[in-house]
Amino acid sequence: MKSIFEYNFWFLTGSQHLYGEDALKEVEKDSGIIVDKLNSSGVLPCKIIYKAILVDSQSIEKTIMAADSDTDCAGIICWMHTFSPAKMWINGLRALSKPMLQINTQFNVKIPYRTMDMDFMNLNQSAHGDREFGHITSRMDIPRSVIAGHYENSYFQQRLAKWMRAAAAAVAGRNLTIVRFGDNMRDVAVTDGDKVEAMIKLGWSVPCYGIGDLVEEVNQVTDAEIDSLMNDYKKLYSIAEHDDQDFALGQIREQAKLEVAIEKFLIKNSAEAFTTNFQDLHGLNQLPGLACQHLMAKGYGFAGEGDWKTAAMVRTLKMMGEDLDGGCSFMEDYTYNLEDGKMYNLGAHMLEICPSITGTKPSIEVHPLGIGDRKDPARLVFDAKAGSGFTCSIVDMGSRFRIVTNEVELIDAPEKFEKLPVARALWKPLPDFLTATEAWILSGAGHHNTLTTALDIEYIQYYAEIVRIEHLAIDSGTSIRQFRNEDRWNRGYYAG
Ligand code: MN
Repeated sequence: MKSIFEYNFWFLTGSQHLYGEDALKEVEKDSGIIVDKLNSSGVLPCKIIYKAILVDSQSIEKTIMAADSDTDCAGIICWMHTFSPAKMWINGLRALSKPMLQINTQFNVKIPYRTMDMDFMNLNQSAHGDREFGHITSRMDIPRSVIAGHYENSYFQQRLAKWMRAAAAAVAGRNLTIVRFGDNMRDVAVTDGDKVEAMIKLGWSVPCYGIGDLVEEVNQVTDAEIDSLMNDYKKLYSIAEHDDQDFALGQIREQAKLEVAIEKFLIKNSAEAFTTNFQDLHGLNQLPGLACQHLMAKGYGFAGEGDWKTAAMVRTLKMMGEDLDGGCSFMEDYTYNLEDGKMYNLGAHMLEICPSITGTKPSIEVHPLGIGDRKDPARLVFDAKAGSGFTCSIVDMGSRFRIVTNEVELIDAPEKFEKLPVARALWKPLPDFLTATEAWILSGAGHHNTLTTALDIEYIQYYAEIVRIEHLAIDSGTSIRQFRNEDRWNRGYYAG
């Protein structure tokens, strides 16, 4: 599976010949120090490679084309230490297809009021040069983000780290394959969408396989493979006591068998995400439950009912949050608590919630499933850990993809779920339950979502800018009036 840490970013410093060779040497030296300090900060997920001082159109175009064709490079970080006339950047920027970040920083923190002279002014003029660069990238409408501040400031570095994670996940998305075992759930609208446009915009490839292809793989799984995975299950999870324990263990082994088969199938097809559909299980005697949950815990993207967009987003956000505290799961809005002052949303699914979002040891339980017409499936049961996170839904609005996010506060349930045999998460959406719920429904966002507690919405802002799709955020500042206007303005913008 692709790791975010395999990527690097190229650091390009813009300048020009006007200031003489001595000044360029200083620009080069300062750029090297900035890159070294950023790399040794311990904050950034990926290495920054200092590339060059760029002082003319040819070298800019050549360097950007090289960044574009380097598969390990997830983007370029541009900085104008001095003034770099931006017409020189036009040909290069026209060729750019990788993510681009402009940092508006400078070498010194403080203005040396008493000692500065014109040499200092000519050398340290990123306030000046970064505006020229900002003009041309804005005029050419190049997808980009801008992060301002001193490069040693921890807030600056944290934002840079977020952008890098968003950029690397977006670049990885260009080769993301989501295997669909069966098609979308019949008649459901929001889980469907334009697969060709998804590949053009996001790079997502979403091939469908007949469930028989998976059954063939299932039939080849060996007892030794099942035993090995059962040992992993026993280490990570507790197995609940059942009335008929032999039957339950058999059902758990069946899930292990399914997991081995699905993972082999994904590896063979270079896929990092998948969907299932309970309406299409010919030849399988259980709906994959525990199997999907444990595969999500390993980093695979997943969503039920053929929802390939959510499966892709689960994988994308898992990658963005690789090794960060918190988790990420496929999720579904289920039912509400509507008491005054205690309005909550209960999220769950029929089985498949990722255990990365819990703080406790999940329990493997076997229960009947009232849907899908198959034998009782084994699943992990647990409560999500309290804390902050957000839900994220990507939908096809016909003329465009739209991402909707909602900041949420996960809470401990005030009472025990004594009879609910599935994993669940209880949350308070921001800014408040009613506004958030009304805004979500007005936006057309799905009943499926990706819940993450490892990231915040700023990552999605960067991601949406990079992949150039709409992002509507429901957060602590949202009001319905403003949100409806934003929705309408966006319809106009994205129709144009
Ligand atoms: Mn569902």
